[in-house]
Amino acid sequence: MMDMSSWMFIFVMSIGCGIACMIIAYNKGYRGNQIFGWLAAGLFFSIFGLIAVILTSHGSEASHAVRSSAACRHCGAPLPVEAARCINCGANTSPAS
Ligand SMILES: [Zn+2]
Repeated sequence: MMDMSSWMFIFVMSIGCGIACMIIAYNKGYRGNQIFGWLAAGLFFSIFGLIAVILTSHGSEASHAVRSSAACRHCGAPLPVEAARCINCGANTSPAS
């Protein structure tokens, strides 16, 4: 039987990995429910969820960067032409009329 400190260690590890997964997923361009999906992955799979989020690449991040032909007027980040908002700073990127 495991003692209390072992359970505490697993608990803290799970929370830590969940939060780390969330932050990494956010930096990779995941938003909304996807962020909570990665949080759950970190909570349930601990270090394995963390490895998964590190190894994964968000679809829009890589593919759109190549096709991007616009840059954010606010922060200069490359953007897909169809983006209504900056993926980096969230600024409205529709052309000024
Ligand atoms: Zn921006």
